[in-house]
This record gives sequence, C-alpha cells and structure tokens, in this order.
Amino acid sequence: MGKHYFCDYCNRSFQDNLHNRKKHLNGLQHLKAKKVWYDMFRDAAAILLDEQNKRPCRKFLLTGQCDFGSNCRFSHMSERDLQELSIQVEEERRAREWPLDVVELPEGHLEDWLEKRAKRLSSAPSSRAEPMRNTIFQYPIGWPPVQELPPSLRAPPPGGWPLQPSVQWG
Ligand SMILES: [Zn+2]
Ligand SMILES: [Zn+2]
Repeated sequence: MGKHYFCDYCNRSFQDNLHNRKKHLNGLQHLKAKKVWYDMFRDAAAILLDEQNKRPCRKFLLTGQCDFGSNCRFSHMSERDLQELSIQVEEERRAREWPLDVVELPEGHLEDWLEKRAKRLSSAPSSRAEPMRNTIFQYPIGWPPVQELPPSLRAPPPGGWPLQPSVQWG
C-alpha cells in the first residue's frame, strides 16, 4: 500500500512519493489552502486594514464566487463582514487593556494572591469585568461553521468536556 502523506492545510492525503508530493505542494489548491491557514493567525486589525485598502471584488459580492479565491487582489468582504471584523478588532483591543488575572500574578504566595483576588472581585462592580470575559473567545475569521470543525478545534462546552468513564489506553 505504501505510505500516505497527509496535508494539514488541505485536509487530504495522497500516496507519498516524490512526484505526488512535489505536485501537491506546488499546486494552486494547496497554496491557497496554506494562505488561508496562515491568514487565520493574523491579527484581526491587520486583516481589517488590508481589506479596507482593497476595492471590493464585484464578482464575488454579486455571485458569491471568484476564481482568485483568497489570492484575489480585491476584497471579498461585504460591508457586514467588515463591520463584524471591526467589532472583533475593538474587542481584541479592549481585551488587551483589561488583561486577564494571570498577568497580575505577583511574586508573593498563591494564597496571598487568591485572597487579594477574592477581595478585588467582591469589591469590583461585576458589570465591569464579567461581560468582557465572555466576548474574548472567538473562532478565527474564515473558519467553517462550528459544526463542521473537527472536535479538537471546537471550544469546550460551558462547564468543560464530559468525562469519558471507561476509556482504556493501550
Ligand atoms: Zn496541501
Ligand atoms: Zn475576487
């Protein structure tokens, strides 16, 4: 049967030999998928700036399709996409201004810190910190709908994953 090469970017596998691999890695489909992959890790602000500087792709916005895909030099984002993106940028900016507790971890003992934290939480108006927390997690832009993601990429349900009782390793 021979070995198989699995391409993470394209989410597909093929028989692993020099010819196939070379052909795949230089293929348009693969290069596109790779770009999309790396775009997911770019800062939302950088993407927004990029997209705002492009003129809209009329073809894509009219038909929902464009042969150039993510390599198109025009923007495939609608007004609404841009709006949502700028909201995300705003949220990311605010998240940075309200760093999570970890950042405040002082040099002292954990007990001291927990005590201080309890005091701080009870004295702070809860409306300031709590809703902010909930908005921090977001799936990256461009990801498929949640139900199409593999389980390992999904956010845990509220309260965490259920424990699998009788899993045997080995
Ligand atoms: Zn590939
Ligand atoms: Zn286009």
